[in-house]
Amino acid sequence: MIDTHAHLFYLKKQLKDVVAKAKKEGVTHIINVGVNIDSARKALKQAQEYPGYISATIGVHPCDVAGFSGFKTLKKELSTSNYVSVGEIGLDYYHMSAPKEEQIECFKKQLDLAREFNLPAIIHSRESDDDMKLILNEYQDVKKVLHCFSSSVDFALSVLNKNTYFSFTGMITFAKKGKVINAIKQIPIDHIMIETDCPYMNPIGIKGDNEPANVSLVLDKIAAVKQIEKNKIGMIIEKTSRNFFAL
Ligand SMILES: [Zn+2]
Repeated sequence: MIDTHAHLFYLKKQLKDVVAKAKKEGVTHIINVGVNIDSARKALKQAQEYPGYISATIGVHPCDVAGFSGFKTLKKELSTSNYVSVGEIGLDYYHMSAPKEEQIECFKKQLDLAREFNLPAIIHSRESDDDMKLILNEYQDVKKVLHCFSSSVDFALSVLNKNTYFSFTGMITFAKKGKVINAIKQIPIDHIMIETDCPYMNPIGIKGDNEPANVSLVLDKIAAVKQIEKNKIGMIIEKTSRNFFAL
């Protein structure tokens, strides 16, 4: 099991305890996702403490793009350090921390970087399906994952191609039917990944900070919805995730 989206630098617990618990639960790798340049550097530092177990990503989150002008620094980080993905990047029209135009411009510039460095992109999308669809269609050649997917099957199928993946969090453990369950049912199994988005998005019954060990509960739910045995589906998803991030 790979937790493909964690923010370990936000956790209050000691990293060694978080890693020990994750290993005990069968987590084989953690993708530590930056939301701006500073947090990406922290993520990278943590990754360097656990080579082969934690990998870091760099990107400017749509809630962090207001006034952002550090593209040169971003490019330098990408060319000099070992990041496995550009992310998280995207559009957030719910929080709207920056005007749409600014979010779109920053998102596209970062997709250009993903293309240039031949890295996959981790995408955050909230209440922005229409613009997201247009932009993703311009970047069909860039490998990408729509993280914490909670939109409709129709949207998923409209952006699905061989380079598009969908990742689910503990949010799905609360759903019995409806939008997200339909999406899990209809998205091909080899385009699905799992994540915690810790310290956020606790699965049902988990109190306090979420952590990578809990990704097991997300896998349980997907196995139940897809009606495939947990070990088998776990192996498929792990393979997808390793290929996606070139681990
Ligand atoms: Zn996140």
